[in-house]
Amino acid sequence: MKHRILVLGAGYAGAHTAGNLARRLSPADTEITVVSAEPDFVQRLRLHQLAAGQEIEAPRLADVFAGTGIRLRLARVTAVDPERQVVAVADAEGAGELGYDTLVYALGSHVDTSGVPGVTEHAFDVTGRSSALRLRERLDSLEARGEGRRVLVVGDGLTGIETATELAESRPGLSVTLVARGELGARLSGGARSHLRRACDRLGITVLEHTGVETVEATRVLCADGSTLASDATVWAAGFAVSPVAAAGGLEVTEDGRIVVDRTMRSVSHPNVYAAGDSVHAIGDNGRPLPMSCASAGCTSMQAIAAITGHLTGRKIARTRLGYVGNHISLGRRDGLLQMVDDEARAKPKYVAGRKAARIKAGILKGSLWATSHPTFGLPRRRRRLAAAPDTSANPSAEKAIAWP
Ligand SMILES: Cc1cc2nc3c(=O)[nH]c(=O)nc-3n(C[C@H](O)[C@H](O)[C@H](O)COP(=O)(O)OP(=O)(O)OC[C@H]3O[C@@H](n4cnc5c(N)ncnc54)[C@H](O)[C@@H]3O)c2cc1C
Repeated sequence: MKHRILVLGAGYAGAHTAGNLARRLSPADTEITVVSAEPDFVQRLRLHQLAAGQEIEAPRLADVFAGTGIRLRLARVTAVDPERQVVAVADAEGAGELGYDTLVYALGSHVDTSGVPGVTEHAFDVTGRSSALRLRERLDSLEARGEGRRVLVVGDGLTGIETATELAESRPGLSVTLVARGELGARLSGGARSHLRRACDRLGITVLEHTGVETVEATRVLCADGSTLASDATVWAAGFAVSPVAAAGGLEVTEDGRIVVDRTMRSVSHPNVYAAGDSVHAIGDNGRPLPMSCASAGCTSMQAIAAITGHLTGRKIARTRLGYVGNHISLGRRDGLLQMVDDEARAKPKYVAGRKAARIKAGILKGSLWATSHPTFGLPRRRRRLAAAPDTSANPSAEKAIAWP
């Protein structure tokens, strides 16, 4: 019987993990299935560009995985049952279950709408393709109604900054306001912050600092100081949240629902479950939780891949690097910021700004798309035959089932 590896999600973490496992493990002994709600690879890093009206590449997952031996199941994951080692899925044809011996949970994240009334009903966001397209449609209709319609971007984290600058550059007829709870770009170095401020001025973005939004309504937001801000489209960029599926299934999770893992990305409650990307609560080499980011998706995937191949082949599990070195922020298409951070995740004085940063960021985007859409390329083909696996269905201990020598 083949060892069944089930990968949930085909974003940066899921596609990367599935491809690397397919490259490293023998198809004679393993069967890898990827479950994705989307038929193609969604470049989340570029969704603010999609909302701004630009076209972004979206390779079909069927093409991405063609010839790799990876099976693709287009369906929505609705539940995990780690005791029975099954995942419930639903598609247009109905509901079903998929069994596994090893599970890789990489369902990513979505906009965090909790805590502020009216966000779910009235705000737009750029954290998923359908929501980015909904915002795009709204912006198209605002532009058609004439100049100066007001777009409010709430949140001055990386997504908020990228979204406000992209919209202002691509849609100069709109009046864009960026709302920051504290000082604009507080987590950047002084030099990078000044550059950001100049970029906002150049693009005509109104910056409102020290402003907390407490309620979102259809045509305005209410602020903590009692003021109101009129808005024709409010874009919520105040944080990411993860799917409740892991917690509901009984996996040990943090308060915000991310899966708690050991150094190898293995669930501390269910050892044949691994997690990577935004869904995992991974502690980096600096002793701090890794931020939800594409870079973290890459390094948590690498560690999960090393652990799974190690367990299945009986070889020593490589300890891969879990680090975060900096932020790459686009400020429209011709400007950007690369902000290096230290081991404590604080901004270093060193940063790169302007066209050079924009070019580097464009290279990173291209590279991450290429790597994800060629998931089995470039690694030494080390097809190690797995030792004969015990019959996992007859073995109630997941630990014994996958950790054979
Ligand atoms: C506009 C924007 C710009 C960003 N820019 C940067 C940046 O410059 N640098 C950076 O490091 N990070 C950036 N990020 C963050 C980055 O996109 C995420 O950290 C990264 O996508 C995480 O990868 P992931 O594989 O965990 O999740 P995702 O890429 O979100 O992939 C999750 C996958 O799971 C699928 N899925 C989800 N739920 C289900 C379900 N129930 N059933 C089946 N499939 C499901 C999704 O369709 C998707 O394929 C940005 C995010 C946004 C929104």
